[in-house]
Amino acid sequence: MSLFRKGTKAYSIFNLKCPRCQEGDLFETGTFSFQKPFDMPKNCPVCGQKYFLEPGFYYGAMFISYIITGWFALIFVGTAILVFGMDWQLAFGLMVATMAVLFVWFFRISRAIWINFNVKYQPGAGTGTGMRDQG
Ligand SMILES: [Zn+2]
Repeated sequence: MSLFRKGTKAYSIFNLKCPRCQEGDLFETGTFSFQKPFDMPKNCPVCGQKYFLEPGFYYGAMFISYIITGWFALIFVGTAILVFGMDWQLAFGLMVATMAVLFVWFFRISRAIWINFNVKYQPGAGTGTGMRDQG
């Protein structure tokens, strides 16, 4: 998953990295290990960036999650029926199965997008020099 250049928001989002240093992981476990799927550390393990900027910070991520899953479902079912000529029952069943597998990933991507709206990339934050800037 190194489609995106470091320093871009897409890099942080798709690699689920800290938005500030892009070194530390946003989540404690791998997405498809399905262990502790929703647990995030309180701070970035590399640069110390807070992952919970305020109480209820991730409510905003829920709306992003709705948008992503909504579009995904629509495009998935639409493609299955219109492009592959599936019955809608089969298309719908496949969509639900796929969503079940990708649910954790959608959840994490939504949080990564949300924290990237709120925290800027700071080159060098992970090397130790950045920590002094923001205490
Ligand atoms: Zn960091």
